Amino acid sequence: MCGITAYFGEKNGIPIVLEGLKRLEYRGYDSAGIAFLNNNTIEIIKTKGKIQELKSLVSDKNSNIVIGHTRWATHGEPNYINAHPHLSMDKSIAIIHNGIIENHSELKRELKEKYNFKFESDTDSEIIAQLIQYFYQGDFEDAFRKMLTKIEGAFGIVAIHKDHKQMICARKGSPLVLGVNSNEIFIGSDPSPFIEHTKDAIYLNEKQMAIIEKNSYKIKDFNGFNTQSEIETIPFGIESIQKQGFEHFMLKEIYEQAETIQNCFRGKVNHIENISIKINNPNRIILIACGTSYYAALVGKYLIEKTSHIPVIVEQASEFRYRQPMLFTSDLIIALSQSGETADTLEAIKLSKKLGCNIAGIVNVTGSSIAKECNQGIYLHAGPEIGVASTKAFTSQIVALNLLNLFLNKNPYYKLEMIEELKKLPDKVKEFLEHQEILKIAEEFKDSKYFLFLGRDINYPVALEGALKLKEISYNPAEGHPAGEMKHGPIALIDSTTPVIVILTKDNVYEKVISNMHEVKARKGKIICICDEINNEIKELSTHIIQVPKTSWEFSPIINAIPIQLFAYYIAKLNNREIDQPRNLAKAVTVE
Ligand code: GLU
Repeated sequence: MCGITAYFGEKNGIPIVLEGLKRLEYRGYDSAGIAFLNNNTIEIIKTKGKIQELKSLVSDKNSNIVIGHTRWATHGEPNYINAHPHLSMDKSIAIIHNGIIENHSELKRELKEKYNFKFESDTDSEIIAQLIQYFYQGDFEDAFRKMLTKIEGAFGIVAIHKDHKQMICARKGSPLVLGVNSNEIFIGSDPSPFIEHTKDAIYLNEKQMAIIEKNSYKIKDFNGFNTQSEIETIPFGIESIQKQGFEHFMLKEIYEQAETIQNCFRGKVNHIENISIKINNPNRIILIACGTSYYAALVGKYLIEKTSHIPVIVEQASEFRYRQPMLFTSDLIIALSQSGETADTLEAIKLSKKLGCNIAGIVNVTGSSIAKECNQGIYLHAGPEIGVASTKAFTSQIVALNLLNLFLNKNPYYKLEMIEELKKLPDKVKEFLEHQEILKIAEEFKDSKYFLFLGRDINYPVALEGALKLKEISYNPAEGHPAGEMKHGPIALIDSTTPVIVILTKDNVYEKVISNMHEVKARKGKIICICDEINNEIKELSTHIIQVPKTSWEFSPIINAIPIQLFAYYIAKLNNREIDQPRNLAKAVTVE
């Protein structure tokens, strides 16, 4: 979800809002725009490019009611038309929106069919402006509130009306902050866009709205009743706010996972049948990916084969594309990529398409090359991932694979049970993140020369991902292996200096993993055990225990991934590594 900023005051707000947008650039975005009031008309200036371009387009403009947005597309590709702000059909209302309006299709259909509304963009956001127009009968606030009763999903919204010296904003599931000064009010999705103007801020609570007028503002609930609001002093400088108090984007993104997991299943989980993949009972599924996405895909294999009984093959794109793979037109090929631009994965699915296969994508970036090439699939909606080492995209990919699995699965009871469990997952992740003490464990192993990660079954890919994370950002040699494979080689590396991170979940291979822990212990290896249950045997075998909340087998790789991400992060931090931009690595691997 991307950035919002707005200005209501006596100065020319255009340069202020543009500066605010520049301050939001750190979040990553794909397009940007502003709208402002100019003598009872609304002017809009947008660009598919950088904020710098907007600046050159507005140099001669002046307005003291201005809204601005950086977009991270979730619905509709990143282009000029889909960039925010969006106007109502009669051009009287302009809105900016962060988040996802889940029921936008139904609402859009109704306004189009019954009331002849015309829509310009492919976004879910445009419906907000259209609904306000639909309800408007002279009272902007009233129409805005009626619009709120119709939309479902997550939103931070700011709206202006051509005939009102008012700015109205509202939040649900997406943050909004007011910056308060004498004679002027700022709005931001975080305080960074206005911090140089004021440090007095009001953080809107869930389901609160603000009505801003000349020299006044009111904070209300969605029913229109005034609510208490407190002005807080922002205690940070701009740097720490951009990372929301976290030292690195990677840590911020690890901590976002309770939210990103929910964003991935939000709106889909109650309508699994609406997932947009055409499927005619495929004989097999081939998952193609690279790096971390490849490990997520491996989780998909365990998941789909065991619970939906469809054969799954997982392929590394760089190998697949050059080895003349045997494909059938009945194959369903799914490409996984955070950026949607991974060159090898893109070529691999182009090849599959040429051979007549049904292709789909699981990607984070809307409108990316893979998304366009596939034209069907599941978006992660994890927001921009800025840290080069992928974290939140990995857990969201596993959520998406679970959604795919539920889509393929024929057992309604299984589906219901899984949906219930999935809905509980964000709170479990949050609870774990609030109490984790992995830094202390990392301190003990910061100088270790080699790390071994072990897991079995659906958590074997998590062991692979753990080793990859550690290599990527700490530059320490690390390997992930299936715990049962250890005795066929890796065991030779274990001595009393070796940290061995073991993923132990109470599932069908639990006893097997315990046996492997005995083997490690016998070689004096130092076990760091990630488990969902503690008993005396585990205590005796382990040097350290990291307990994670219990969840079902299907989601256990998600909850287990979080401690291994944090472990890698802290080892890298204690070694003073460039965590967000590790050496030799790029975020989107657009070359083969
Ligand atoms: N869902 C909206 C869109 O795709 C808003 C995305 C955002 O938060 O930037 O346009």
